Amino acid sequence: MASLCDLKLLMDLGQMPSALLADATILTVDPSDRTISRGWLAIEDGRIAGLGTQASMPDPERFDEVHDLVGHLVMPGLVNAHTHTAMVLFRGRSEGHSLLTMDGWYNTIREPELSLVPSDIGPAVALSCAEMVLSGTTTFCDQYFFAEEIAAAAAASGLRAVVGYGIVQLGDQARGSEELALAAAFVEGQRQGRVIPWFGPHAPYVDNDEALLRAEVVMAVKYGCGMHLHMAAGPEDNELTLVRYGLTATQALARDGFFQGRVHAAHCLDLSDDDIAVFAAAPAASMAHCASAGLRSGRERICPVVDLRAAGVTVALGTDNVAANNSYDMVSEMRVAGLVASHREGQAQPLSSRDMTRMATIDGATALGIGHETGSLEPGKAADIVAFDMRGPGWSETPGVETALIYSGSGRDARHVWVAGEQLVRHRVLMRRPFEEIRTEYSAIHADFWSHVATARKVA
Ligand SMILES: [Zn+2]
Repeated sequence: MASLCDLKLLMDLGQMPSALLADATILTVDPSDRTISRGWLAIEDGRIAGLGTQASMPDPERFDEVHDLVGHLVMPGLVNAHTHTAMVLFRGRSEGHSLLTMDGWYNTIREPELSLVPSDIGPAVALSCAEMVLSGTTTFCDQYFFAEEIAAAAAASGLRAVVGYGIVQLGDQARGSEELALAAAFVEGQRQGRVIPWFGPHAPYVDNDEALLRAEVVMAVKYGCGMHLHMAAGPEDNELTLVRYGLTATQALARDGFFQGRVHAAHCLDLSDDDIAVFAAAPAASMAHCASAGLRSGRERICPVVDLRAAGVTVALGTDNVAANNSYDMVSEMRVAGLVASHREGQAQPLSSRDMTRMATIDGATALGIGHETGSLEPGKAADIVAFDMRGPGWSETPGVETALIYSGSGRDARHVWVAGEQLVRHRVLMRRPFEEIRTEYSAIHADFWSHVATARKVA
């Protein structure tokens, strides 16, 4: 077995150390949803080389390192399917406002957002990535301006990320065309680490018109990538198309050919049965349920997750931006999704803990078009793994390890995290960069940014 120095040397030489995770409770989230109560999992060349019960464990001497994980839950890394990571700069700045309405967003976020400069983005995204991975997330799906800077910071974090180039037109057709060309260049040129580039039309018909939406789907199909957008989030989202065409935004998008491409829609609070049918009939449509952000917004409408899943639609979970949420903890997000589904349907747990575990892992990966690569623990897949420490408060003797995780555990119980076989968190410590360094750099940028906002306000 190798020392930490040897492991670093191996990685410097471009080789991923092999590892054996031993004596853990393993939640595979594979097609048969196996739970192995005392099991092992082997990581070789960044991939899952095998897993099984303790009786069949390979010789530990074969591996560069062995993790004795008695009392740990080993499961696929969590997938946060909707974020705006740079917006951590606005955390706590929209209290008492709904970010799912145009007014709420415009009056709290839009004005300071105009003071953002590219150099603000890296430190903000680095902090967001650190918070995500420290709470067990291994993949996230982002959408915002400054996609280049977001992609660079995501790549530096080691996390797997889909980065949607946020396109906002707001009635300016020339700007729409220009943004689309820049988005295409981003998608074409983006080759950083574990980052996958997408298009990110911000909000169809609200700030992207139909001509632009049609052009976006043509581009997305051409480049073989997806589109990450907001849909049916606030009252305005359907208003415009209902008045103009007598159609919901979802049906108007279907009419405009949008669902020919891979569509990953966030929020979806206001879907009708016909809208759900559009999602179900599309070749690659999915949605990100952001339960906490929806509840905090004060909207009465709640995403019809149970109906969507019954119709065969892939439903993932996301935190949304942390001005709306204000946390990246996907364990907490699973819990809120479970609670709000019970409330909406008027019955006890219409979404089981197992359902929510799938939504936060394999369904998230499937939504992002990478279900073949990550989202479950199966031989051959990338080793994207989290080990939660089950020895702390709240976990003891609960039958059903998913229920223990979701309803009594926390993202803060994540102890080890691997992405593509690289250990990014070891005993709750970040391995690529110290959290303290990331936090200090972020604090400096945060202070600068808000002083620029204050200056801009004085000038105005
Ligand atoms: Zn959002």
